[in-house]
Amino acid sequence: MASTIQRISGPVVLADEMRGAQMYEVVMVGADELIGEIIGLNEDLATIQVYEDTTGITPGEPVKRSKMPLSVELGPGLLGRIFDGIQRPLTALADISGDFIVRGIRTSAISRDRVFQFTPAVSVGDQLKGGAVIGSVPETDHITHRIMLPSSLSGEVAEIAGEGEYNVNETILTLRDGSGRDVEISMLQHWPVRVPRPVENKLPPKRPLITGQRVIDSFFPTVQGGTASVPGPFGAGKTVVQHQLAKWCDADIIVYVGCGERGNEMADVLRQFPKLTDPKTKEPLMNRTVLIGNTSNMPVAAREASVYTGITIAEYYRDMGYTVALMADSTSRWAEAMREISGRLEEMPGEHGYPAYLGSRLADFYERAGLVTTLSGKEGSISVIGAVSPPGGDFSEPVTQNTLRIVRVFWALDADLAHERHFPAVNWLLSYTLYADLVAPWWEKHGGSAWKQMRSDLLALLQKESELQEIVQLVGPDLLPEQDRFTLAVAAILRESFLIQSAFDPVDTFCPPEKQYRMMTLIHRYLEMGRAAVRSGVDADELQAHPVTARLSRMGPMPHEEFESFYPEVLAEIDSAFPEDDS
Ligand code: ADP
Repeated sequence: MASTIQRISGPVVLADEMRGAQMYEVVMVGADELIGEIIGLNEDLATIQVYEDTTGITPGEPVKRSKMPLSVELGPGLLGRIFDGIQRPLTALADISGDFIVRGIRTSAISRDRVFQFTPAVSVGDQLKGGAVIGSVPETDHITHRIMLPSSLSGEVAEIAGEGEYNVNETILTLRDGSGRDVEISMLQHWPVRVPRPVENKLPPKRPLITGQRVIDSFFPTVQGGTASVPGPFGAGKTVVQHQLAKWCDADIIVYVGCGERGNEMADVLRQFPKLTDPKTKEPLMNRTVLIGNTSNMPVAAREASVYTGITIAEYYRDMGYTVALMADSTSRWAEAMREISGRLEEMPGEHGYPAYLGSRLADFYERAGLVTTLSGKEGSISVIGAVSPPGGDFSEPVTQNTLRIVRVFWALDADLAHERHFPAVNWLLSYTLYADLVAPWWEKHGGSAWKQMRSDLLALLQKESELQEIVQLVGPDLLPEQDRFTLAVAAILRESFLIQSAFDPVDTFCPPEKQYRMMTLIHRYLEMGRAAVRSGVDADELQAHPVTARLSRMGPMPHEEFESFYPEVLAEIDSAFPEDDS
């Protein structure tokens, strides 16, 4: 008997006669053949989450099985593209259906017409293992796309295409497998989005993901292959931070997953992202970016799929040996999608109505980040930066809390700092990183040996400042001991000169690590020498009035070449400004 729709509840549909179907199999629902995925099976009843608007479909309409799990197409031609949560190209969809996506539309994610210049990397007779690189195509002027043997296959090269132009459907390799069967391979692969792509092994991260943002790199660094989270109360600068990271972080490939709730949120990203310029190549940043976007007129279940689609594409480029950064904005919208689907399924709700598996789903997602040895023996990584939008900026809510348990870096954006126009509005008291020890050797090599010590002294200074500010509120600054007044003065320099960094300043938008280290050195030296001087009886106000103090402000926007001579000069000045503590 053919299976039909029994019941419809928003994006969730119950279908009968589905015996033999698999969990997470893709099905076509109703006469319009809306795309859905099986998320529950009970005897011959299947629960299906539908990725398109179910309005107007009725019980009794047919449900067809695809016998395939929800998968993405992988191959050259992904870079520069904008897809929806189930990898339908958004621009192509708009061409077909105008501004609104007509239901049931199918288009290929990867163009079948475009040809790529293929250069083989293997010869007839070579023995290949799954994941082996069989050739390459220049996907863009700067990114070489490595064509890999699907991981499930191995065997001997029976035929390999010569150098030339091919589309993704043409056979480029004939592989003779262990049983003597010939398998034809093209440049196009499929991969089920919920299954992590295999790797040779996972490695402990070792290099920081340099972003050129001082508060991140110097104080709360993340790593290539790391997991970070950035909660973004409205107006706190979440979008600017993510654009800065996408533009400046030292990843080869950017995957940006946008799950906007309000329509204009995502529309803004779709408008703004293509305008960003890649500082390294001066070309559009989109040339090394894949954008996955859900606009508000797309159903809630598509948000669920979009993070998996995004991470699978990220894994594919990682497998070529690239460093990939994936930004998910915002994971809260994804969690809300889970909550809505879970509610429709009448599952037992957990905290705030989120399903009990919220934490494990988030963990499974972040778990797909990492530095790895790929099946072909290369090193590749995925760094994940997940934005969270806690309602009312309340970090105690379940999505933030569950995320905090998983990620190793937390950049807490703060509405108050943003209000004071302290940008990036990363709250230094709430933020943390668990990678500081890991990246210390890198900093020692690229900055100097004092990185760890300076970082911890300067963070302690900020901590102390916040304690002192409470006292100042009660008694005013005049009653504070000299030493504490000096602490407040240096903390202010640190905040204004080092932590504040305008994304829109032509120089300061990116601060090279070497400059970060030297800026830290100057402030740290000033702190050390000044503290000693105060101990030996010098007046804190006198120190503040010294001309060198003023020179420490506004170092960020100083052109890098000018800073080259400024640094040794000011270092010497600090040393001579403070009389030696000879007590
Ligand atoms: P959100 O996405 O959190 O609502 P935005 O990223 O749009 O907030 O930031 C709001 C405004 O704050 C920006 O338009 C900009 O003026 C300012 N801003 C945010 N981050 C920075 C930054 N790093 N440097 C300078 N200005 C910033």
